[in-house]
Amino acid sequence: MSDLPKFVHIMEVGPRDGLQIEPRLVATADKIRLIDALAAAGVTEIEAGSFVNPRAVPQMADSEDVFRGIPRREGVDYRALWLNAKGLERAIANGAVDVEGKLTLTASETFIRRNTNRSIDDTFAEMPQWIARYRAAGVPVTRLGLMAAFGCNFEGYIPEAWVLDLVARAVAVMEENGCRLQDLNLADTMGWANPAQVKRLVGAVRERWPGLTIKLHLHDTRGQAVANAVAAMEMGVAHFDASVGGLGGCPFAGHKGAAGNVCTEDLVFSCTEMGIDTGIDIDAMVEAARLAEDLVGHELPGKVMKGGTLTRFKAG
Ligand code: ZN
Repeated sequence: MSDLPKFVHIMEVGPRDGLQIEPRLVATADKIRLIDALAAAGVTEIEAGSFVNPRAVPQMADSEDVFRGIPRREGVDYRALWLNAKGLERAIANGAVDVEGKLTLTASETFIRRNTNRSIDDTFAEMPQWIARYRAAGVPVTRLGLMAAFGCNFEGYIPEAWVLDLVARAVAVMEENGCRLQDLNLADTMGWANPAQVKRLVGAVRERWPGLTIKLHLHDTRGQAVANAVAAMEMGVAHFDASVGGLGGCPFAGHKGAAGNVCTEDLVFSCTEMGIDTGIDIDAMVEAARLAEDLVGHELPGKVMKGGTLTRFKAG
């Protein structure tokens, strides 16, 4: 039995998760052009930049100006990433960032130690401080992101029971600190997930926390991202992160073949052809992908931008 949603919400992550690993620095005005092309295509949530150390990620050093320069469209949330208190302060001070209260965890101890020099226990210990920071800014904490929720290049497949344990611990910490988890983003950071596994994990989470909105962040490292997204949709999942043109990679995955998120226009194409509304115009989305390709100066992995949509064959 499949239970496809009627509407799928896509958060575009290309301008941040994608552009941050590009060797070429994209000009601020061009980033703004891409972000607005995405909004014009109908994307209503866009990760437009990050407030991290500009020496570590020079591609995002202009995020302050990007956010200030976006011609804001009504109904569009412009999101940012931050990794520490200073980053959150910068995002709030910017004034043009739609700040969301979000906690982040990683399911792999080795992965988090390599990338942040901290442990999973440290992450839990820091959660009350994060909640307090958001509270001081008047932002309710309702979201949890879980990186490497399916598998890890250093630890192998992540067992579902371990994921449930981590989420349960986070739910408890949030409750102790006066907030309630509403959205859980399960990230396949290193491209390990397969469709059967996606269904198992989504099913297990849903059974334990039926009211939770489940979101997926699927990297396409092994070409499984659209298949994984469709498997999740068959379980009723209606929220995905996606990257225009398939832009991106993962600088922390520990191998060179790491790919970006599921390609936005390929996912929109799947949805459109299956009769699922995304609010996004597939042809305008393909145009945005071509713009992204122009801006980075090399071919992007998206398929529909090369094969074309079916619009002109259907017309008439
Ligand atoms: Zn990612």
